[in-house]
Amino acid sequence: MNPVLALRPLVCQKTLRFVTERAPQFLDITEAVAQAVEESGVREGIALVFSCHTTAAIRVNENEPLLLRDLEEFLKRLAPRDLYYGHNDFSVRTHNMTPDECPNAHAHCQHLLLGASETIPVAEGRLFLGRWQRIFLVELDRPREREVLVRVIGHG
Ligand code: ZN
Repeated sequence: MNPVLALRPLVCQKTLRFVTERAPQFLDITEAVAQAVEESGVREGIALVFSCHTTAAIRVNENEPLLLRDLEEFLKRLAPRDLYYGHNDFSVRTHNMTPDECPNAHAHCQHLLLGASETIPVAEGRLFLGRWQRIFLVELDRPREREVLVRVIGHG
């Protein structure tokens, strides 16, 4: 028998919830993602880490406190909160308005540059990350609860 066909395909998904404290904030979620990968039973494959939000991103970077401050300041320079944005002008805006709508166009602009997901290799049942690589949920809007999907695809 072809050994590839003998492998058992596995797809496993878990929703992780995090509470953020400020914006921008780089929240290291590596351990929670690693646990989800472990529970999936996948030995070889990939883990998709996906933010279910348009103002909270997923990124791989280094967890060094001064660097994280640098990255937060970098995001603020790229899309400052206090510029004029049409999305924040509730006197003219009519689309996607909710009762608790808050002005957050700067967060959408920052999110556009970061992205909603990262795909990380899974090898021998573990996340395959480089020495300094950590997985971050990046809060861009305001402190709140956030949902992150971890979808692990591969074989056991
Ligand atoms: Zn918005």
